[in-house]
Amino acid sequence: MFDNYQFTAAERFMRYVQVDTQSDPLSSTHPSTEKQKDLSRILVEELKALGVTDAELDEFGYVYATLPANTEKKVPVICFCSHVDTAPDASGAGVKPLLHKNYGGQDIVLPDDNTQVITTTNHPYLKEKVGEDIITASGTTLLGADDKAGVAIIMDMANFFTRNKDVKHGSIKILFTPDEEIGHGVDKVDLKKLGADFGYTLDGGERGSFTDESFSADGVQLVINGVITHPGYAKDKLVNALKIAGDVLASLPRAELSPETTEERQGFIHPVRISGIAEKCTIDFIVRDFVTEGLKKKEEFLLSLVEMVMENYPTASFEFNVNEQYRNMKEVVDKHPQVTEFAKEAMERAGVKFERKSARGGTDGSRLSFMGLPCPDIFTGEMAFHSKQEYVSVQDMNKAVQTIVHLAKIWEEKS
Ligand SMILES: [Zn+2]
Repeated sequence: MFDNYQFTAAERFMRYVQVDTQSDPLSSTHPSTEKQKDLSRILVEELKALGVTDAELDEFGYVYATLPANTEKKVPVICFCSHVDTAPDASGAGVKPLLHKNYGGQDIVLPDDNTQVITTTNHPYLKEKVGEDIITASGTTLLGADDKAGVAIIMDMANFFTRNKDVKHGSIKILFTPDEEIGHGVDKVDLKKLGADFGYTLDGGERGSFTDESFSADGVQLVINGVITHPGYAKDKLVNALKIAGDVLASLPRAELSPETTEERQGFIHPVRISGIAEKCTIDFIVRDFVTEGLKKKEEFLLSLVEMVMENYPTASFEFNVNEQYRNMKEVVDKHPQVTEFAKEAMERAGVKFERKSARGGTDGSRLSFMGLPCPDIFTGEMAFHSKQEYVSVQDMNKAVQTIVHLAKIWEEKS
């Protein structure tokens, strides 16, 4: 199917990364930065040039577009989604993408800052990329492969279908979102307008990786009410909320249940913010686990620690409030096994080894899944994201294009 196809993902990618689309966590507007629309406008124009007539950019920075069905069959509507913004962790302005053709396996020194070296020691995946074409930034900015690799792959998929009209598919929706990196990627999305039954984000790393599982996440706010008096006459009366907070933090386990001592499928309890005065102090925690039931256990454990500390301060009091943040998308995705099965088959047809992964974080897909659009994640090849040493393999991107073309075809075949 791809023998005579000229892939466009790399060429598009090299152009898209030069548009600064950094999002801003301190902004309260939607999108958080207007410049994200600079890329979105280009995408709409390019889609229209491909004949995707309904492509549109809305005021919140979302791009919606449809590749209409070319089959008589009734096929579920699937959506491919990626985000246009780049992370605030490193500059996204003035990105100079460099193409390293036929990579030879050496460490890659980035020319604009010789201290930035992508080593195979720190990036073992690079060793598998010998002979492929690698794209990096030049040393002073991030590359933005997260997630412009996903954007370029989806655009190339659209390009493929407009040039290969004999390949049957149902209605395919395209969604480009802003502000994923600051946790607001789906705040203003209109799922009714999108009108998709199932979705896939393209925002994963290594070739073949498929993420259908994310953390389940809660926030816990602990408010400690001390007892305040004039400090000169405080003997046996004053109870300092800051000191209680110190005791609570000291009572947290270190060797386990902490982000710095856990990995893979282990969850944690993590204090992220403390604020207050002697009278009243607030500690914000985040609690993470792959199992929602495990969240509850961790919260009960945290509560028991707090109660133990508070026993030493009988005149002080506390409030312990749990807020749901997001849930493991697996709870939703598993109810629709074909979403995963078809992705696996699509990768096999593209000659890619399917590998299930769990994300130790949330994705737009976890929130979309619970908003009614089951939405696991497919690889793009983007690696070392959020850093100046970000890189992506052209061949990985092309494999992702093949994967999602096959995927759309499989949905049609099996309907
Ligand atoms: Zn991303």
